[in-house]
Amino acid sequence: SADKQKHDYQSDVARLRKIVINSLYSHKDVFLRELVSNANDALEKLRLTALTEKEVLGGAENLNITIKAVKEEDGPGRIIITDTGIGMTPEELTKNLGTLAKSGTTEFLQKAETSADTAGAGNLIGAFGLGFYSSFLVADHVYVSSVAAKSLKNPEPTQYVFSSSADESSFEVYPDPRGNTLGRGTEITLVLKDDALEYLETLRLTDLINKHSSFSSSFPIYLFTQRLETVPVEEAEVVETLAAKPESDDEDEVVIEEAAEEKEKTAETKTVMIDEWVQMNAQAPIWTRDPKTVTDEEYEAFYSATWKDYEKPLAWHHFTGDSGSGVSFRAIIYIPSRLDESYWREGLEGSNKDLRLMVKRTFITNSLGEDSLPKWASWVKVVIDADDLPLNVSRETLQSNKFLKQLRSIIVRRLLQTLARIQDEDKDKFEELSKVYANVFRLGAVEDVKSRDKLATLVRFPTTQRNNTSLDEYLENKKQGQKQIFYLADMGKSESDLAKSVFVEKLHARGYEVLLLGQPLDEVFVQNLKKWKKVPFQDVAKAGLKFGDEELDPKEEKEQQKQLTEEYKPLMDWLRKESNEIVRDVVISNRLVTSSCAIVADAHGYTANIEKMMSANNN
Ligand code: ADP
Ligand code: MG
Repeated sequence: SADKQKHDYQSDVARLRKIVINSLYSHKDVFLRELVSNANDALEKLRLTALTEKEVLGGAENLNITIKAVKEEDGPGRIIITDTGIGMTPEELTKNLGTLAKSGTTEFLQKAETSADTAGAGNLIGAFGLGFYSSFLVADHVYVSSVAAKSLKNPEPTQYVFSSSADESSFEVYPDPRGNTLGRGTEITLVLKDDALEYLETLRLTDLINKHSSFSSSFPIYLFTQRLETVPVEEAEVVETLAAKPESDDEDEVVIEEAAEEKEKTAETKTVMIDEWVQMNAQAPIWTRDPKTVTDEEYEAFYSATWKDYEKPLAWHHFTGDSGSGVSFRAIIYIPSRLDESYWREGLEGSNKDLRLMVKRTFITNSLGEDSLPKWASWVKVVIDADDLPLNVSRETLQSNKFLKQLRSIIVRRLLQTLARIQDEDKDKFEELSKVYANVFRLGAVEDVKSRDKLATLVRFPTTQRNNTSLDEYLENKKQGQKQIFYLADMGKSESDLAKSVFVEKLHARGYEVLLLGQPLDEVFVQNLKKWKKVPFQDVAKAGLKFGDEELDPKEEKEQQKQLTEEYKPLMDWLRKESNEIVRDVVISNRLVTSSCAIVADAHGYTANIEKMMSANNN
């Protein structure tokens, strides 16, 4: 008809559609999150406009998103996504869905097309959404019916259809032959490809919505479902009235059919098909709320629903921030009450599967790619929602990547702050935390140079004088003149065994505190740190021990040492001869109190511990 306007796609659009269809085939799930995201945007626009122009609501407040699958029995299988948002005029349908008006697109397209591996191009696009064109990943044909919100300029808007098939280079825009069925908003009908019929399954849809869109939209998302239920005959009428379309002013859409199978009928009951609109996101996304209004129970419920961990988290931190490149965000960081069993078995590449990066409440990715968190922090559970990061591909992707890069340091910094706060403010909680993460802190201090000092502060050690001593506490307790942090490291030994060591005796007798290091990562920890607050670590089983409270001045000590060496020369010679194969040298020592002799490691040699590990590996 004369009303039907045929338009050729802009050449860029044609190319984008091709890239989307060809390179993102394996990511076709994204269509739903993109369309829900658009619906959410349209509702947000409406809500914003209504603040100053009440008439856009047209008297109907209902702001929601509905998703319905129509099975093949009633024509081709299709999915219908409807929102009651701002809607589009026919001009807007043409402009918004048929052209790419935004800058940077051409550049992006070149990059995506010349990118050697299509997976790379896929990630490029997938990282920040592909918008409306992702519809064609699953649909042969897409119909968009839309009626713009009423305004002073447009008091009687007409419902129009945008119609396009996946393999055509043109689209049509025409008045909806059904008239104004929507009242306000947009209805997107995806006529599914044969290989996308899986999306008709309620379970598949539920899964997708739960994964990508629930907990995320501030507007209710309803999914149309049907189930069979056997009810007493007299109750069948009641069921009918319960199952009304949400917030709909229109006529009841409920259909009740008798089940096909006659034999299920008995005298008193019958099986009925119940149509229901089930709300997928009953809870408002908690990270968008003021932390003061969120209860501990809500934080815990969100945690378990999101990460499927039914043990309560140890702690969380809910904050807003600014990336520094102009991207503001809200986030919650959770500290689980345990580490995955596989944590210490897995390699050192920090991977993080438990991150939820959202943009405007739409899930985008759980991977920071190359900028993933360091191993020590990879267990953290994070939801982070950027407010003004473009969701679409048509803005500068580089800017987006910059934010991704910043995320790693933002998360690490906030996590360290949270850990430090618990240490300072809640002794009991910190003790719990230490039980789970003590070795994680050691690992971090070794692998993450930037965070080394902050993590080392969190590590606690048993000593000859007490338990759970931090390095700072150790230094506070040091004796006058003490210039070294004394430790004895022997992997796998208990504190009491370490304390019994002959090396520790003299120091302990003189009132020095000695760190007793029996944890696997202890030795590599002190070797990496070397010093704490400028005080060097000293292995008491190694040469180089200095006390600082020696009664003799160095000259006198040397003299005394010389005398003793002469006096005991015959014994020493004999010992050297006898132990020739076993030790490098025999010397007079002032480090022992009750034991008569000790074998010590060379100051620059391997310590006994590492020697043990090496010989174990050589066997
Ligand atoms: P983006 O959302 O990043 O702008 P899309 O390709 O997802 O890119 O959508 C293109 C444009 O189409 C949107 O900017 C919007 O103007 C319009 N649009 C898409 N879906 C809807 C909708 N459900 N209601 C109103 N406008 C929509
Ligand atoms: Mg979009």
